[in-house]
Amino acid sequence: MQHHTFDACIVGAGGAGLFAALEASRSASVAVISKLYPTRSHTGAAQGGIGAALGNMEEDHWEWHMYDTVKGSDYLGDQDAIEILCREAIDVVYQLEHMGLPFSRTPDGRIAQRPFGGHTRNFGEGPVRRACYAADRTGHMILQTLYQQCIKNQVTFFDEFQVLDVLIEDGRAAGVVALEIRTGELHVFHSKAVLFATGGAGRMYRVTSNAHALTGDGMALVLRRGLPLEDMEFFQFHPTGIRKMGILITEGARGEGGILRNNKGERFMERYAPTLLDLAPRDLVSRAIYSEIREGRGINGEDYVHLDLTHLDARIIEERLPDITDFVRTYLGLDPVKDPIPVQPTAHYIMGGIPTDVDGRVVRDEKNTPVPGLYAAGEVACVSVHGANRLGTNSLLDILVFGRRAGAHIRQFVQEADLVPLPKEPEGRVRAEIERLLTQEGRENAAAIRKDLQDGMTEHVSVFRTEEGLLTMRERLKELRERYQHVRLGDRGRQYNTDLLETLELGFLLDVAEATVESALARKESRGAHYREDYPERDDANFLKHTFFFRKEDGSFELRYKPVTITRFQPEARKY
Ligand SMILES: Cc1cc2nc3c(=O)[nH]c(=O)nc-3n(C[C@H](O)[C@H](O)[C@H](O)COP(=O)(O)OP(=O)(O)OC[C@H]3O[C@@H](n4cnc5c(N)ncnc54)[C@H](O)[C@@H]3O)c2cc1C
Repeated sequence: MQHHTFDACIVGAGGAGLFAALEASRSASVAVISKLYPTRSHTGAAQGGIGAALGNMEEDHWEWHMYDTVKGSDYLGDQDAIEILCREAIDVVYQLEHMGLPFSRTPDGRIAQRPFGGHTRNFGEGPVRRACYAADRTGHMILQTLYQQCIKNQVTFFDEFQVLDVLIEDGRAAGVVALEIRTGELHVFHSKAVLFATGGAGRMYRVTSNAHALTGDGMALVLRRGLPLEDMEFFQFHPTGIRKMGILITEGARGEGGILRNNKGERFMERYAPTLLDLAPRDLVSRAIYSEIREGRGINGEDYVHLDLTHLDARIIEERLPDITDFVRTYLGLDPVKDPIPVQPTAHYIMGGIPTDVDGRVVRDEKNTPVPGLYAAGEVACVSVHGANRLGTNSLLDILVFGRRAGAHIRQFVQEADLVPLPKEPEGRVRAEIERLLTQEGRENAAAIRKDLQDGMTEHVSVFRTEEGLLTMRERLKELRERYQHVRLGDRGRQYNTDLLETLELGFLLDVAEATVESALARKESRGAHYREDYPERDDANFLKHTFFFRKEDGSFELRYKPVTITRFQPEARKY
């Protein structure tokens, strides 16, 4: 076992973790611990852009951006946090520009901007060009830029270390325990502050746009220490994933004129969103696709529809959509210039997560009581700026604005705080769990349990939900948990044991899935991405509130609720 001491430990090296590390490292000693090599984090897969009301192409204001975000959230987002998001967006983008991020440019040299779903001018009048981008590699460029800056600031990186426990002593954060993947050795990191920036949990679904590493680790680890998860019933499905694979086809394809069609060749969005058609918000389009499939109008009666670009000029497809054209050719052997693309909704983004205040401080209850020294930022956190449904380009913004704020708060905090003494054998819990998994003679296979989890979540807890389906999944999860206790590993070695790591990740996914199912069962209304067929209306009188899910030591759970913060915009019917 190795021991390290730092002022702050940042878990995760995506956009949120790197910006927090950069900010904190201006005066504190900082370790970044990441199970992936930093530039392989999922932030690097983001293409579309980052929203900020720079007004470079046409008039724009942060208040308009705020209105769109509040409305997009189906009024569940906290408006104090959304105001910070939209105001600081402008400064964050310029800071990245000054660090050297190669944004695409207007002919006169300013940062170029393009339209994106749900972003409008003058409180909903029509689309506005607000998304700043670096070709279709925006996330990649953000990661490279921040990583370089962190290296320059002498942040210490622990690459390919998987964090498996967070140490909380006397109600304060004291450090983390991590497994060095290459050697199998355990490391204890003792620190005054810990920040989780571990990203999403899309891997609990069968078809997802998320990378393999997105298994909800940070959420499960804090839950296991008695802390809550907020708004876990809200999971976004992006309408256009490549069939079965879930690889994302950007909203930009429809922006360029792509049309969704059913097995009769009908442009079915005419029936669901007569004004915005194929460019309606993501929750609405995903529901429309599933409705077509359920009513037998999927292609060949199967579970997908077509995204048709064949009427577009071949040059537009090649020049403006080169990446997705490449994906379709490589993965499907089809040519988007001549062939319609088979698509189905793909699990994309988790709106819920570890509850925090606007400085990234994790709160332990619905009264906003902070846990001193514990922070979360990025997709793992719930501030909450996305409420029940996130707008495109607002996640890159969220990870940067709140990653930076959390880093700044940590810098102040560690100046005054002391190290909390560690207990004897702080790694004891992790060591016991690993020994159990490596030695027990079980009969269950982790991959089979994961498949049953993903199939069940996809069938019962996706775009449409009912009490019956959610109750079925509740029972299935109990069985899966029981089977998980009897897992037998194929690889019992110490070095680079991916079998062990994936089994531990499956444990995290089971925890996150339970929080999602129980929070969804209790929310008897439809709001944003959470659509209950048995309660199809939004119910502000009873459910304009955030869910807090707690798991107790004895395995039972508790739900509590917190009011939504409303400052400028009162809830209205959500028409587009
Ligand atoms: C295909 C795709 C396209 C997207 N496009 C856009 C877009 O155009 N615009 C937009 O706004 N949003 C987009 N999003 C969403 C957005 O990219 C993500 O929500 C965001 O990048 C998440 O950043 P993050 O820093 O929170 O986490 P990530 O970038 O996911 O990083 C997570 C980090 O945590 C580490 N980690 C996880 N678990 C552990 C552990 N147990 N121990 C140690 N380290 C751990 C990983 O190694 C990784 O470094 C897209 C998402 C996808 C999947």
